[in-house]
Amino acid sequence: NLTTAELRAIDAAHHLHPFTDTKGLNAEGARVIVKSKGVHLWDSEGNTIIDGMSGLWNVNVGYGREEIIDAVARQMRELPYYNTFFKTTHLPAIELARLLAEVTPPGFNRVFFTGSGSESNDTIIRMVRHYWAALDKPEKKIIVARHNGYHGSTMGGASLGGMKPMHAQGGLPIPGIVHIAQPYWYGEGGDQSPEAFGLWAARELERTLDEIGADKVAAFIGEPVQGAGGVVIPPATYWPEIQRICRERDILLISDEVICGFGRTGAWFGCQHFGYEPDIMAMAKGISSGYLPIGGVMVSDKVAEVIANAGDFNHGYTYSGHPAACAAAIANIRILLDEKIVDRVRDDIGPYMQKQWLALADHPMVGEARMVGLVGALELTPNKATRAAWPAEIGTVGTITRDISFRNGLVMRATRDVMIIAPPLVISHEEVDDLVRITRKTLDEAWAEAKH
Ligand code: PLP
Repeated sequence: NLTTAELRAIDAAHHLHPFTDTKGLNAEGARVIVKSKGVHLWDSEGNTIIDGMSGLWNVNVGYGREEIIDAVARQMRELPYYNTFFKTTHLPAIELARLLAEVTPPGFNRVFFTGSGSESNDTIIRMVRHYWAALDKPEKKIIVARHNGYHGSTMGGASLGGMKPMHAQGGLPIPGIVHIAQPYWYGEGGDQSPEAFGLWAARELERTLDEIGADKVAAFIGEPVQGAGGVVIPPATYWPEIQRICRERDILLISDEVICGFGRTGAWFGCQHFGYEPDIMAMAKGISSGYLPIGGVMVSDKVAEVIANAGDFNHGYTYSGHPAACAAAIANIRILLDEKIVDRVRDDIGPYMQKQWLALADHPMVGEARMVGLVGALELTPNKATRAAWPAEIGTVGTITRDISFRNGLVMRATRDVMIIAPPLVISHEEVDDLVRITRKTLDEAWAEAKH
């Protein structure tokens, strides 16, 4: 029965928040979220908010799904925990592994379970080196990733990521990670057409391999759509060209499907939307819609055969294949299948939302509106013609806009001055109308504030 002010004071005294300026937060106080249903959240002051970010891009089937809650409770009673080390397994791990083989692209039949996206990507660093060592090519160690990519917060994940502020803290990246251009046409494409720029960005990989030697490179990793970097949707030419280079130079192609997996782009996995066939996929988030933490590394048969015959893989987590988390993931994937949610994103609600979202490009502060499936962004600029950045004295207009949006009843995320949206995949047509209406109102208010 504490008041919001009291809850905020306790939080400020005892809780260090991720990706948060503690001093700034303590002055203002955190928002206390207390309840959820469908696409909606409620805070401790009784406000109703549309969760336009699905939590952290993960609550794909929406909040309050009794099927998942019941499945977890049943599993907790039966076997709340056991491990999958040392020749042991259990029913939920068996069933989830089988189900993942069913929903992933052909040729993917084995999974290594983790607890999160970061752990999945850390696992991948070790796994690809183990793979090449098993093929008598231990010198193939380097992983090529991209500037402004995001692959997690552990030492490995943050090193694969290309986020400068993250590298600055803790002396990252770790050795053996190289970053190349991102396919960010709006910001970096210059005078090139999106198609030409997509090829140019992909060929950065080829130029880098020429420089360091493909015989030293284990893999290339990328998100189908760079999420945290600002929903960078690559031109259609990009991924097929990356795949060509990986195949020709004999390096593994890794798709970080932590955001795009499980329906976000209107395909089960982002690689299917963009038309490429990775060797390894990192998964987390939408695998359980966030009801419990779980992730996985899904390997193609080509990789699985080598790993499976290479002796011990000296790697694993206490919670690799946690039974209750597996139960949540199974129930979640069954909902995606039974309700044909991925098809709905591709054929119905995705196109419905895209039409309205892309129309926001007529707003004076929107330099570009983009969206694929149900993940989109708005580039904010004071000058649409020049795509200029905002003058520093105004502050971060993205953050200002994000805060106005929350007051208006919609969670959006800001990366620099890019506004990001990724609602639950079960959002209704009426809820999309509400979301876009609040976005436009928010832009009007932010534009007025930024101009003065
Ligand atoms: N990979 C991608 C593409 C992500 O977006 C994220 C998280 O946002 C991660 C990896 C890390 O996942 P986690 O936060 O579960 O460790």
